[in-house]
Amino acid sequence: MNGAKPFGPIPPEFAGLDALPWLDEATPGYVYDFAVVRSRIARLRAALPVGVAVHYAIKANPFPPLLAAIAPLVDGLDVASAGELERALGVMAAQDVSFAGPGKRDFELEAAIRAGATLNLESEGEADRALRIAGVLGVTPRLAVRVNPDFELRGSGMKMGGRASPFGIDAVRVPALVRRLIAAGADWRGFHIFAGSQALDASAVIEAQAATVALAARLAEEAGAVPPLVNLGGGFGIPYFPGDAPLDVEAVGAALGGELGKLDTHYAIELGRWLVGEAGVYLARVVDRKESRGEIFLIVDGGLNHHLAATGNFGTVVKRNYRVAVAHRMQDAAEEVVSVVGPLCTPLDRLADRVALPRAGVGDVIAIFASGAYGATASPSAFLGHPPVREILAETQAL
Ligand SMILES: *Cc1c(COP(=O)(O)O)cnc(C)c1O
Repeated sequence: MNGAKPFGPIPPEFAGLDALPWLDEATPGYVYDFAVVRSRIARLRAALPVGVAVHYAIKANPFPPLLAAIAPLVDGLDVASAGELERALGVMAAQDVSFAGPGKRDFELEAAIRAGATLNLESEGEADRALRIAGVLGVTPRLAVRVNPDFELRGSGMKMGGRASPFGIDAVRVPALVRRLIAAGADWRGFHIFAGSQALDASAVIEAQAATVALAARLAEEAGAVPPLVNLGGGFGIPYFPGDAPLDVEAVGAALGGELGKLDTHYAIELGRWLVGEAGVYLARVVDRKESRGEIFLIVDGGLNHHLAATGNFGTVVKRNYRVAVAHRMQDAAEEVVSVVGPLCTPLDRLADRVALPRAGVGDVIAIFASGAYGATASPSAFLGHPPVREILAETQAL
């Protein structure tokens, strides 16, 4: 349609959105369809080599009912704060919980050590503090070393290796630290190597995983110790925008199978977005419809305060449209070009920019897809003092 900006295809799982009984109670809010998460995990298990553990990085979506549902289906949870640690320990045995992230405070280190969770150490200073706290408690700490790799995940949306970094310890300094941890009597759990996020290119992920295994093997040899576990990170992306093709996880799994034999250890991968992102839809109701200088604006009852990422303000440079629909008119053809904006007093609050949609008016519900990761908890909910966003976990075959 003339002047419209593109958006990607509506996910087939949500083609029947208009039939859902709770559509009217859910706005403004997120609905997560757990059937999608379940099938994601099954597909991943089938694609990965036998024995590779699957961890869920809970910061992608820590909604408690979702966390409780996902915990029995994965082998571990990765957390990044004492708050997340507490949530994870409610649904997973401590030995299967690991805690990464820079700037862990002493009370956070203590909480993890007391519980028996694994700390992924981000610096030598953090290692010193963890050893001291464990000494005071009289507990053997479970300590892994997060490595700042000397390569990056090519084509990843968020690069986390190959440069100076607040995350992890530069690879050259890792062997000395491992020797020191072992000498201090810690239970050294191995390596954590996370090279980037939101990669859609299987060859880039394959390359990063091979480099990760090779780096772990080299560091193990230099340290003179075999790591009990190598956490290969994740970085699996999901399609958001027109032209994005889904990651070929079967190709990734097949290639990984050829690498694992290079080091005799256990392996894990940790994923957030890929497991939950496409399971979520954000729903907001049209409060006002107005025209300004020939453009139509649909003003809905939630915006960047609920869904910062969809407005292009969370880790994106160019604002592009998420996949969007009028929820009660899923089957209808586009009739007009509109912008969907939230209720906040800032031009940043734009959920969809000049998209072609069926005609929608006051009371209609706008759906934004691929909203299950980095949504509610990654948005500035206090900004402008609007009510908090709702969240619903559903598992409906109707979807
Ligand atoms: C954020 C994070 C993840 C999850 O990243 P996704 O892109 O959501 O899969 C995994 N591991 C670590 C260390 C992280 O910080």
